[in-house]
Amino acid sequence: MMRVAVLAVQGAFIEHERMLTGLGATVFEIRKKTDLEQDFDALVLPGGESTVMGKLLRELDLLEPLRKKIKSGMPVLATCAGLILLAEHISNDENVYFGTMPVTVKRNAYGRQLGSFEVEMEVKHVGKVPLRFIRAPFIEAAGEGVEILAKVDENIVAAQFRNQIALAFHPELTQSTDIHKYFLEHLTRA
Ligand code: GLN
Repeated sequence: MMRVAVLAVQGAFIEHERMLTGLGATVFEIRKKTDLEQDFDALVLPGGESTVMGKLLRELDLLEPLRKKIKSGMPVLATCAGLILLAEHISNDENVYFGTMPVTVKRNAYGRQLGSFEVEMEVKHVGKVPLRFIRAPFIEAAGEGVEILAKVDENIVAAQFRNQIALAFHPELTQSTDIHKYFLEHLTRA
């Protein structure tokens, strides 16, 4: 049975847990450093507020140990604020958190008017799925080795780099489990 750790210090982690459990994974929450003593096969970084999550990751002494795991190949699914945590550069914020994915992201990239919307779009390797955006970032530039999985209006909204899948939107807030299924089937280590 696949064991998936979900970062649960802030944000929309419950919805990921429900979806993963529904797909047959065993899920547990990471809230403090001792939670990392458990073994797990994959990690989920949820949406929320990247500044708050980043601050908590530092204060709880989770940032470095999780960065090491990601760097050494732990499969990661990151959504929205989670994408911001993975990015090497944030164009409108001086912070860098994990910095394990060679992309430049822009926070709140759609402005206030278009803060939240939903579209249907083809995601590479996955198929057509509903994409739900909430005060979302997008990827402005992608470095070498980054595979672009989806674009909306010329902006990159889904990308994969080695063991990391990062999405600007929230699959866990839609009816479709296809992205989580893809993650569990194709990115996790045996
Ligand atoms: N606007 C948030 C941020 O910048 C991300 C929004 C989300 O995760 N839904 O961190």
